[in-house]
Amino acid sequence: MAIPLGANRALTGRGAHSMTNFDTDLFVIGAGSGGVRAARVAAGHGAEVMIAEQSRIGGTCVIRGCVPKKLLVYASRFPHAFEDAVGFGFAEGKPEFSWERLRDRVEAEVTRLSGLYRKGLESAGVAIREERAEIVGPHEVRLACGRNVSARTILVAVGGRPSRQGSVIGAELAIVSDDVFHLASLPRRMVVLGAGYIALEFASVFAGLGTEVHLVHRGDAVLRGFDDDVRRIAAHTLAARGVKFHFARNFVKIETCPQGMRRVHLQNGEILDGDVVLIATGRVPNTDELGLGRAGVVLGEKGEIMVNAESRSNVPSVYAIGDVTNRLQLTPVAIREGHAFAESVFGDKPWTVDHANVPSAVFITPEIGTVGLTQAEACERHAAVDVYVANFRPMLATLSERDEKIFMKLLVDAETDKVLGLHISGEGAAEMVQLAAIAIKMGATKADFDRTVALHPTAAEEIVTMRTPAARLRRADATS
Ligand code: NDP
Repeated sequence: MAIPLGANRALTGRGAHSMTNFDTDLFVIGAGSGGVRAARVAAGHGAEVMIAEQSRIGGTCVIRGCVPKKLLVYASRFPHAFEDAVGFGFAEGKPEFSWERLRDRVEAEVTRLSGLYRKGLESAGVAIREERAEIVGPHEVRLACGRNVSARTILVAVGGRPSRQGSVIGAELAIVSDDVFHLASLPRRMVVLGAGYIALEFASVFAGLGTEVHLVHRGDAVLRGFDDDVRRIAAHTLAARGVKFHFARNFVKIETCPQGMRRVHLQNGEILDGDVVLIATGRVPNTDELGLGRAGVVLGEKGEIMVNAESRSNVPSVYAIGDVTNRLQLTPVAIREGHAFAESVFGDKPWTVDHANVPSAVFITPEIGTVGLTQAEACERHAAVDVYVANFRPMLATLSERDEKIFMKLLVDAETDKVLGLHISGEGAAEMVQLAAIAIKMGATKADFDRTVALHPTAAEEIVTMRTPAARLRRADATS
């Protein structure tokens, strides 16, 4: 059954763009960060917008990703802080910790934020459908209630989901990142598969909270794609935090053992037991049974929607943004893609997202912040690269006597003096990199960094006081 023409208009009071016989100007599938931004911006430009969400408004980032994860990260840092406090004159002592209380407070915050997202949509005049929507054709969507809605433009912003390793026998006995936030109790022992963002962040969180964490990785270095020094330091950091690494190993089978424990069999015959087994081996686009085939939308190898720079699929009325397009799986990127889409299509202000020099962080403790090229990428693309390095003990660690370092690496094109990349491991790395990313995005040179007066005493001042390259890497064709 089709929703009668004009039904949305009554709901939204908008419709400046509705010049055609569609029920709505824009139908957004998925109310995560990207979809919500697109819906609000499009509505702000006078479009009639309807958005459907099958789960909770807010999507992965707000409900089961970045936000609750970061709150757990903060929690996991307190035990260190209590230890460090002793060096600053406080009496020794370890306050009691309740996972249940933390979990419930995180859930309450997530609910609050989801409510704010809903309010934002409502006040923008977006019609919200809390049910699954599937595509029926290039201009038509079917809601789970059985109603069809026609739309001039459809935006797919359904994100992704953790991929369980189908090849592992008993993979259903493991949890994925979505489930971490609902654990009944704090695991005493945890086995993690994978060595990407999610595996490392949760390994760090639970090790910090006192869980014995075993991390199994098929390779011999964590964080593929990151700068090699940062990768090495990340593994060292986590090992120092108590994480036990099992490199060059993979899961073969997971089974239950008495008392509900899980037993993991590795391919070399080793066995690891844990209360919880977490599989964190990547995320896949949520395109299964979405009806994209019916509309003729072309998908890539991993099921991602193939889009052009304007986030448009091969079907002119169907656009896609965020993780479902498998470009950069980062919330701020999805938000920007949603914004660009809405302004371009409904605001007559066409622009596209520049995916270069996007900063990102891995919230292990201490954390990693990174922007721009890795050393390997810099050397591949530039004939002459100067590498500036700082490695020092943060001031906080002096009195606490913690064996902790801050590592910074600045990569500079020796021919143009342009800063190509910044990689930091250490407390505050994410905050430092976010700010330095502005300069790097603006095309700052090393001389610009040098001209900036240090702010003392901070860790960040090292970024502007690195004088001599630790290495001058030159290809044969380099001119400097
Ligand atoms: P990643 O792609 O970052 O890491 C996947 C890990 O699983 C890698 O170590 C990979 O090994 C391993 N792996 C993949 N397939 C297999 C397999 N078949 N058997 C064994 N191991 C396997 O994925 P994540 O799940 O950690 O995160 C997904 C995305 O979410 C990230 O890419 C990131 O964009 C985003 N994210 C961002 C965060 C942030 O900004 N702080 C936080 C969390 C997620 P190998 O290295 O050998 O390929």
